[in-house]
Amino acid sequence: MTGIALAPDALGPTITIGEILVEIMAVDRGTGFLEPTALVGPYPSGAPAIFIDQCARIGGSAGIIACVGDDDFGRVNVTRLRADGADISAISINPDFPTGSAFVRYRNDGSRDFVFNIAKSAAAKIDLTSAARALIDRSGHLHVMGTALAIPGAAEIIEHAVTVIKGRGGSISFDPNVRKELLGDTETRTRFAGLVDIADLILPSGEELFVAAGGEDEGEAIRALFGRNAGEVALKRGADGSTVFTREGQRIDCPGFVVEEIDPTGAGDCFGGAYVACRRLGMPIEQALIYANAAGARNVTVMGPMEGAGTLAELDAFIAVTPGRRS
Ligand code: ATP
Ligand code: MG
Repeated sequence: MTGIALAPDALGPTITIGEILVEIMAVDRGTGFLEPTALVGPYPSGAPAIFIDQCARIGGSAGIIACVGDDDFGRVNVTRLRADGADISAISINPDFPTGSAFVRYRNDGSRDFVFNIAKSAAAKIDLTSAARALIDRSGHLHVMGTALAIPGAAEIIEHAVTVIKGRGGSISFDPNVRKELLGDTETRTRFAGLVDIADLILPSGEELFVAAGGEDEGEAIRALFGRNAGEVALKRGADGSTVFTREGQRIDCPGFVVEEIDPTGAGDCFGGAYVACRRLGMPIEQALIYANAAGARNVTVMGPMEGAGTLAELDAFIAVTPGRRS
């Protein structure tokens, strides 16, 4: 593959499929929720929702297939996504189940305790509705989140979307943001491997690279991915920034921006949303990568998983005043 690995924005929106949640956060750090503690939220959340919100805010065309309940937690999300420019026509409303939620408390060491309601919430009720089919039929790019593979029914919708979007000349990206332990059953493992095989762009972070590619050495794992379909791999390195590798052998490093980390949740999703949108809008890798790093870094400076998602103008302003980390 030469040139840009992703189909242009003009072919149709970037879409994603999966969970929409609210996140409710403990104000103080500590261990879990075993006693009353002050909370803040609800914040719009869910990895696919954060990704698509950042994609839309930066100016890419964007849409999501998801399900919420007929409640305020659902309305908080739909209102935000609509306001930020995402196509919400394929978000269905299930009257029988509440919108998904995640209660989160940071520990002093930065690790997190969660109380999730996803599997038995509206988030798990996504369906290939006629609105979802219509959105897929006009899409130019599918972004798959590893987390979505845990949702019953999502795999079939993803499979359908891959076929339709590839068939019309669109492209696929894959963020394998799933813990190794969650890949337990053979079916999920096979689906995961299938997505690694067909993705044009893969966006792993940390050990996800090795879960996706095997091996223990970074270079070896990257080469293994280029032995499949990938044209670009964007490797996320937290506060240290990121690197894009291309099939043609280029390596572009981008140091992290120096920020005060308030809430790291959602950084990887904002990074991905910005990178995919910028590449599809025709930006060269170097420029897209700076915006992606800025989107991730800006998002960690505020409470709430998608509160820091920035527009192009906001990211330009952020880049202008924020120093990069010296390597
Ligand atoms: P998530 O926790 O959302 O799954 P991730 O593990 O997929 O995140 P990270 O590497 O943590 O991805 O973050 C994505 C990008 O955001 C990084 O490559 C970096 O550019 C930026 N970023 C994240 N955390 C920081 C930080 N503390 N300081 C500066 N930049 C950051
Ligand atoms: Mg991640």
